Amino acid sequence: TKALSIRGLRKTYDNGFEALKGIDLEVSQGDFYALLGPNGAGKSTTISIICSLVKKTAGDVHVFGKSISEEPAEAKKFIGLVPQEFNFSNFESLWDIVRNQAGYYGLPKKLAEERTEKYLKKLGLWEKRHNAARMLSGGMKRRLMIARALVHEPKLLILDEPTAGVDIELRRSMWDFLREINGQGITIILTTHYLEEAESLCRHIGIIDQGQIIEDTNMKVLLKRL
Ligand code: ADP
Ligand code: ADP
Repeated sequence: TKALSIRGLRKTYDNGFEALKGIDLEVSQGDFYALLGPNGAGKSTTISIICSLVKKTAGDVHVFGKSISEEPAEAKKFIGLVPQEFNFSNFESLWDIVRNQAGYYGLPKKLAEERTEKYLKKLGLWEKRHNAARMLSGGMKRRLMIARALVHEPKLLILDEPTAGVDIELRRSMWDFLREINGQGITIILTTHYLEEAESLCRHIGIIDQGQIIEDTNMKVLLKRL
């Protein structure tokens, strides 16, 4: 089975805007895949549909063989999402934010707490676990979102513009971290509008523009042509 399989995906928003015009896309297990495209191309819409946060208009999406329409809860368990915008409560502690996400995925108490500790440590946030999220720098908030996305140990990690607005030093350390966890077997899909980011990290790339995939290839082939 593929980590992700998308067939004929369409999305028309309530205002009549056609954001996705029939997208086909496949990502193999263990791959590191970039969805590259300009602002407004449909990257966030695609991701939001994969994660069942936005309803599709037509088409099929399978995550590790589970249809998001027929078995949404099963499909969601495979996915960890790092959204573009910070969407946690500013007043909760880091511990609570990650711990609650483990609860949301139904992990039993002991395991939930072990995992919370493991991923706060892994992302270098353990010392700050009692702090409220609002005390964190932007870079730390982003690491917190990654810890939260990993706590149920998903097979597929999806990151929406993970390094937008992030300084160069943090960007490099985040790239290293993503390479490391991909090396441990997690399939990664990220969206970006930086070719450099896609080039530095990813094995496969889909180029999306105006709601259509205009190119889907491996990175080496693409770079030879440029
Ligand atoms: P990207 O992530 O590539 O920047 P998006 O998926 O966010 O693109 O948006 C694709 C297009 O859909 C844009 O033109 C955007 O304005 C439009 N869009 C996004 N969300 C909505 C919405 N809720 N209603 C109407 N149009 C939307
Ligand atoms: P509820 O239906 O209980 O209100 P939500 O769907 O709003 O739950 O999501 C609860 C939390 O889980 C939110 O922080 C949301 O961003 C996050 N979330 C939702 N879907 C996913 C997913 N597929 N992967 C990771 N986090 C998710």
